[in-house]
Amino acid sequence: MTQAGSPVRIPDAITVKDLADLLSVTPIDVIKELMKNGVMATINQVVDFDTAAIVASDFGFAPEEANAAPAAAAVAPATPDEPGDEAGEGGAATTSRRIVEEDSPDLAPRAPIVTVLGHVDHGKTTLLDRIREANVAEGEAGGITQHIGAYRATAPDGREMTFIDTPGHEAFTQMRARGAQVTDVAIVVVAADDGVMPQTREAIDHVRAAGVPLVVAINKIDTGNADPDRVKQQLMEVGLVPEEFGGEQVVVPISALAGDGIDTLIESVQLVADLQELTASPGRAAAGIVLEAATDPHRGVVATILVQTGTLGVGDAILAGLAHGRVKAMTDDRGARIRDAGPSVPTAVLGLSEVPPAGERVVVVSSDREARRIAEERRRAAEAGGESPGAVSLDTLFGEIHSGNVRDFNVVLKTDVQGSVEPLVRSLEELAVDEVNVKVIHAAAGSINESDVNLAVASQGVILGFNTRPEQGARRLATQERVEIRLYDVIYQMLDDVRLAVAGLLEPIFEEREDSSIEVRAVFRRGRRNAIAGCYVRAGTVRRGAKARVMRRGEQLHEGEIDSLRRVDDDAREVAAGLECGIMIGGFTEFEEGDEIITYHLEQTR
Ligand code: GDP
Repeated sequence: MTQAGSPVRIPDAITVKDLADLLSVTPIDVIKELMKNGVMATINQVVDFDTAAIVASDFGFAPEEANAAPAAAAVAPATPDEPGDEAGEGGAATTSRRIVEEDSPDLAPRAPIVTVLGHVDHGKTTLLDRIREANVAEGEAGGITQHIGAYRATAPDGREMTFIDTPGHEAFTQMRARGAQVTDVAIVVVAADDGVMPQTREAIDHVRAAGVPLVVAINKIDTGNADPDRVKQQLMEVGLVPEEFGGEQVVVPISALAGDGIDTLIESVQLVADLQELTASPGRAAAGIVLEAATDPHRGVVATILVQTGTLGVGDAILAGLAHGRVKAMTDDRGARIRDAGPSVPTAVLGLSEVPPAGERVVVVSSDREARRIAEERRRAAEAGGESPGAVSLDTLFGEIHSGNVRDFNVVLKTDVQGSVEPLVRSLEELAVDEVNVKVIHAAAGSINESDVNLAVASQGVILGFNTRPEQGARRLATQERVEIRLYDVIYQMLDDVRLAVAGLLEPIFEEREDSSIEVRAVFRRGRRNAIAGCYVRAGTVRRGAKARVMRRGEQLHEGEIDSLRRVDDDAREVAAGLECGIMIGGFTEFEEGDEIITYHLEQTR
């Protein structure tokens, strides 16, 4: 870590937003820095001290733990305690992996992580099974596939790939709503005998909103009524123009059942992944995401962790939300014991204190004591009415824009009938102004479901319903995640509300308006801390709490607030021109006779 920087005291857990404030940078800067370190976080998400410290030192600060006694942080061991020995033969690279690395000197290519999405029954599971089987057949002897939430496969060219085993956009977006994005490339499966269906469109929208590149697999080309050309036409209608028609969309015809086209599909996915130059640092302390977790009657909590960066090893102290513990044992997707797992490797881990939710971020910390302490602190914070990460609402968007967060006003639109989708999307998008883009990230007919809410959370958007209603689960989730759902039955009202919200989003311009000019005629000192200026109000009205600047011979000495305002012996709320008063300004005691105090307020002129 940079030692030269100015010290900054960081609590054990801090939101991205607060960390940005502390470092005087925008939340976007913090999020980018976190991403460089392989951590995907949203603005309201809490990061732990170790993670925040990395970001702080990247910005040139010397981070210190705010809650610890000054020496305590330094006492934490630089290397983890002895790793557990139950996994048998050693050679594990589990030593000295505390998060102190410099600018990731060991960046190395990592395997792409692939998710399969699409309409129900279009063949997602069959495709995933087909790829997995192909690998096990040629894999090590005795390898029995285990469903742990993800598996690794070897491409025809010998390179590794990781497939998420839970197909569908619900899981995909639920993870994103929790601030976790693990997918590098999405495969959208469309059955050639059925075509682009509502959930296909939904999947495409969800993938687009996530900014994840996608490859379309036209499946079931072996069936008698397969019509791949019709599917391509339909893809164009949703804005995916196949390469053969001059567009950029990679489309691969396959039969998941017969195994046709699978190698070509995998090659295409690799090409798309290669463009992203995916890298991670195997040498640093691991960070990853919980893919799934459950309690096993014999083994306790089993959590599949997909390592995103660093190397997770047996013996590491880990923290996953409120769950904490030491990695007691690890198995891979074939059920084999392993001692460590590097970037893009999924591993089932034993040793957590409780079942963490899918999408929870996992970090390695210095000791299990530390892990327990942070987990307990988080629990206390959560019990004290803790913050759930929220999306923006029409009202809060204003503030988000100011913190440099939102330039797109993201909308999930649900309507009663398909016919009203198109015109509404167009009308909404026309409300965009220079600074703010109105972006309908998903629009469809139907009730508002949980998947819509998760998409809104993940994209910091709002949900607009026209002549439709939220399902009960969606309503509950929206309340919990503080996502705004606005329902309308009149088009103009919807458009007006959005227009107003967007207008509020424009960068406001503030101008100073002078309220009073005051002359300091005498100075009364009360000890060393306090000085009262005996004043005469020359013009305007001075109000308690007003912003004030102290001027001497035309030069500004201090800027602060009128902390105390007194008329004769009583507190006054305001004092008008021509009257005398006593004034104290917070943090300033150097008044001299003849100083001028000017009070002012800021007025929004746009
Ligand atoms: P999912 O709901 O998208 O996961 O779909 P499944 O993988 O469960 O497949 C649904 C049905 O389609 C199953 O009966 C599969 O056997 C069948 N299916 C999947 N892929 C193909 C294919 O390439 N050709 C044919 N003929 N049937 C397929």
